[in-house]
Parts: sequence; C-alpha cells; structure tokens
Amino acid sequence: MFRLSQYMRETLRPTPLKPTRKPVAPVVIWNLIRRCNLTCKHCYTTSTNINFPNELTPPEIYQVMTDLKAYKVPVLILSGGEPLLHPDIFAISEQAKTLGFYVALSTNGTLITEKNINKIAAINYQYVGVSLDGIGATHDKFRQKQGSFEDSLAGIRLCQKNGIKVGIRFTLTQDNVDDFPAMLQLMDDENIDKFYLSHLNYGGRGNKNRQDDANFKMTRTVMDHLFTQCLQWEQQGIAREIVTGNNDADAVYFLHWVKKHYPQQLVHIKAKLEQWGGNASGVNVANIDNLGYVHPDTFWWHHSLGNVKTRNFAEIWQDSSDSLMAGLKKTPRPLEGRCGSCDYQKICNGNTRVRAQQVFNNPWAEDPGCYLNQDEIMT
Ligand code: SF4
Repeated sequence: MFRLSQYMRETLRPTPLKPTRKPVAPVVIWNLIRRCNLTCKHCYTTSTNINFPNELTPPEIYQVMTDLKAYKVPVLILSGGEPLLHPDIFAISEQAKTLGFYVALSTNGTLITEKNINKIAAINYQYVGVSLDGIGATHDKFRQKQGSFEDSLAGIRLCQKNGIKVGIRFTLTQDNVDDFPAMLQLMDDENIDKFYLSHLNYGGRGNKNRQDDANFKMTRTVMDHLFTQCLQWEQQGIAREIVTGNNDADAVYFLHWVKKHYPQQLVHIKAKLEQWGGNASGVNVANIDNLGYVHPDTFWWHHSLGNVKTRNFAEIWQDSSDSLMAGLKKTPRPLEGRCGSCDYQKICNGNTRVRAQQVFNNPWAEDPGCYLNQDEIMT
C-alpha cells in the first residue's frame, strides 16, 4: 500500500530519515466469512449469500488470534465476504481488541444500521473501510443491487456520527473512471477521513502496447488527478489520508511528479520511498482465508502456504520451502523482464507478482500492470 498523503507531506515538510524498522510480523487481512449480501462484479472472493462449509469456528478463530498475537502481528483487518454477516463478528472483534491488535473492519457498509451501530461503536475499531465503486447508479450496477450506494453512504454517515474513523475504498475500472472526480468531491462533501484507490488487478496487453493501452492512460490521468487533489488538501491543512493499493508503481510515478514539481525534494523523497520498499506481499502483508488457508496476500487464493487449523501461523509464514514465499522474501526479488532491469526496484519491489503469474505463468516475470513508460523506469 502506497501512502500518498504521507509522502506528499514529506515533500512539503521534509522530516529526517530515521533508521529503518523492519516489522517482526505481517499485517493480517483475514477473510472471516465468504458469505456476502452482495455479488460484486470484481469480488476477489467470488462471494454470494450462502453459507460456505468448513469455515473456521469461533474457538479456532480465537486460537489463531492468540497465535498471531504471540507472533507479534500488529494489525488485523477483518474482512469477508461481508464480515458483518458473521454471527460472532462482535465477539471476535472484541477479543481482537482485548489482545491489543489494531483492528480494522473492511465492509460493504450496507449492513451498518441504527440497529447495530452502537455495537460497532463499542468495539472501537481503529478504522472502518467501506467499498464504493462510484456514485449512485454506477455503484449499484457494480454491486448488482439497487439502493446499495445509499445504504453504504448511510453506513458511512452513521460511523461518522458515532466518532468512528471511516474511509472509502474505490476500485478503479474503465466502467467507473468517469465517477472518479465525483468520488473525490464526495470526500469533501461528507468530510470522509480516508480514500483508498485500489487498482484492479489488470494485466494489460504487455509491453508492446504499453504507451497506447487505454487502461494505462486512464490510470495515469487518475493518478495525476489524485496527486493534485492530495496536494490541495495538504495545502489547505485538511487531514485526509489518501492511499493506493495493488500497483506499487504508483510510488515511482509519484517520484516523477516530485521531480517535475518539487525537484529540490527529489533526493529526499527517493530515499524515503526506498526505505518504505514497495510491494510487501509475503513479507509484511499476509492473508488468511475463510477456511484457514494462509496466502501471501488476498489475490493469491489459488496458492496456499498451509492451514492454520493444522499448523501455527508463524511456522507457516516463516517456512521458505515454498518457492513463491522464498522469492517474495528475497532482497532483491528474482525479477525478470522489464522489472528485472528497472532502476526503481528498490521503490516498487516488482509490484504485484500475481499479475505476472496470471499473464505469463511465471511469478517473477515483469508485472504486466506496470503503467510506466520505458524512460520512467530508467534513471
Ligand atoms: S518495471 Fe516493475 S519494478 Fe519497475 S516500476 Fe514497473 S512494476 Fe515496478
């Protein structure tokens, strides 16, 4: 995840470079349940409104949580499916808080209502993230449910009314790009704390057509807009977080933006971005699915590292006999193609490996989702 606001602040008000602190254990995104009341077009868990068999039971969840705490996992992001459909979501969340995790809830927002808002507020989640794919009908079409935009927005407002930090997660596609400016306007209109731009795990058409690729052009335009908006909020003193996910080339693209607009900060921002280090799948980010299988991140559900029902999470995570995990943990990663020869590997870390695996059947091939031109990956 690229924390744009943080680096924009660094550009405007640089702070000294501190020694790098490597986290002991990863942030865990935990899909507690696959059931969902919606059937979104881009859902990576292909959820639907039925009970899925063999999901972790509450006692199993509590045991895993204890193991995660012992391993010093700092953050749990409770997700689904729709986590609010889990019959024990509040007990599970309460236990996570008691154990001292930073606990976030990732929800579609439609089930946050007057009936449960007091319970949600009582948990004291550090953050609630609500997915919105556009305004009104655009969102409803993606979510395949009329009225879901209004329901999600009502959920966001209820959270705000109850003092809960809340943000929007917007997954960019060609079908909702026209709503992007309106999404940023919604941030202002509703005074929302955080905006998460999630890139679709789009593979592109490869190197040959990179310059003309409509998705890449769209992404660049959106990123330019996002930088401008972020700068404006920072200059206005509005404390609003913008982060992006699923395309670590965003950080390199931002560095080029800094070079153009704040050349005096180029060296500083480059050093800060290198310290961050780019893609963290399999290192500082982990995923546990609803059945207990562990994955390097949420897009690797077809690659299991082991199951927490039968093996301790820490053991699974530290086991480098899995060649994918061994490669993800390597510095530098064994990258090939244009990622292998890219001068910004230290910032991007080869981006999203699952795209390379899906398009080239090789997890170390170049990331086909990199929207940077050749001259932008060379110093
Ligand atoms: S070429 Fe690869 S490593 Fe370089 S910025 Fe693009 S995705 Fe990242």
